[in-house]
Amino acid sequence: MKEKIVILGAGESGTGSAILAKKQGFGVFVSDMGQIKPKYKEILEKAKIRFEEGNHNEDEILIASEVIKSPGIHENAPLVMKLREKNIPVISEIEFAGRYTNAVKICITGSNGKTTTTNLIWHMLNKAGKKVALTGNVGNSFAMAVAEGGYDYYVIELSSFQLDGMFKFKADIAILLNITPDHLDRYDHKLQNYVDSKFRVTQNQTKSDYLIYWADDPIIITELSKKEFGMTLLPFSVDNKENMTAYVENDELIIDYQHKTNLMTIHDLALKGRHNIYNSMAAAIAGKVLNIRKDVIRESLADFQGVEHRLEPVITVCGINFINDSKATNVNSVWYALECMETDIVWIAGGIDKGNDYSELFQLVKKKVRAVVCLGKDNKKLIEAFRDKVHTVVETASMEEAVRTSYYLAAKGDTVLLSPACASFDLFTNYEDRGRQFKNAVRNL
Ligand code: ADP
Repeated sequence: MKEKIVILGAGESGTGSAILAKKQGFGVFVSDMGQIKPKYKEILEKAKIRFEEGNHNEDEILIASEVIKSPGIHENAPLVMKLREKNIPVISEIEFAGRYTNAVKICITGSNGKTTTTNLIWHMLNKAGKKVALTGNVGNSFAMAVAEGGYDYYVIELSSFQLDGMFKFKADIAILLNITPDHLDRYDHKLQNYVDSKFRVTQNQTKSDYLIYWADDPIIITELSKKEFGMTLLPFSVDNKENMTAYVENDELIIDYQHKTNLMTIHDLALKGRHNIYNSMAAAIAGKVLNIRKDVIRESLADFQGVEHRLEPVITVCGINFINDSKATNVNSVWYALECMETDIVWIAGGIDKGNDYSELFQLVKKKVRAVVCLGKDNKKLIEAFRDKVHTVVETASMEEAVRTSYYLAAKGDTVLLSPACASFDLFTNYEDRGRQFKNAVRNL
């Protein structure tokens, strides 16, 4: 048997890594400090992989030749520090699985828009008839897909935590959508650390690889100006045209890769809002690089169904339109949600504030928001920020109450928008739970 791989965390990525490691002939041990979900236990048992839960047995772990750490486990966790002291390499699932496939890897990162863009590209390649897997932070293990095999393309959503454990992995196509402050609690409250993490998506890339990026992002541009990058740069922008691989001219989406193509009018894009023009452009460039036919790119951008909890239309009740944007857990994504609304808004916000600066929203809120309905355990900061910006700011204590209150406050033709700017853990299990409770409450009106 080859050397021993230890996997910390038996969630989606850990279980996938265990299966792949076993398939590659390693000795495998899985350790999870919490309880392992039954579906993952079943997979491990079936594959005859040893595991423990509710414990980290150091005698088993500190003899590993390599450790694959779940992105959820903090870099400063005592066990991780011990591993570092012993010089045992700690890597991510993506780094590990990348060693066992030669398929084309399209890697998407950024602070916002990752899941949407990842799904969009998967949809496009699927429509083009390619053997493509949808993996990474979207919720399907990349390692598990590699273990299954048979794919020519992997579309991989990467969070900064996954990138932190990547060293030799190389993306054939990297997509960097934007960088705005997020998760700073995991980066010593230093923005540069978070930026460095995001830029790891470009590491090991050479001339024959590609970086697709948003050219209007000041942080990305500053970072790119700091040194020579070896890969082929493919920038996109809505506001500028010069040297852009994708841009907008008279509402037409233009792709200038090898030759200039007038792809489609932005009015035909399935996903609405300025931010989704960016996501669509990034996907379209990736499609062009991968030689996908223009009509397939156009069709997939036009008929994409969207992703649950991202500006997801629910229903219209008595002329009031309800939209579920539960995944908007930071100020930047709320900005785009408010910006693309074409009616007056009753805005449901609140939850666990990760250090939000609401001032970016003041102008839009003053212009478009009729009422703010706060839904969090502690709403002080929200109320403080908006009470002199809108006529009505109210507090609610449950989703049902928030929806009923919003319905009452909205006028015919308005939109009730759940776009919380905050994490959900004070009142909900996660953002999916929050979004589902919203949809249920709306349907029960
Ligand atoms: P992520 O996977 O990066 O969290 P999602 O695609 O799940 O991104 O979208 C999360 C939130 O961000 C949604 O509320 C969505 O409306 C908003 N959003 C999507 N794309 C962008 C973008 N390019 N820029 C800013 N906000 C975006």
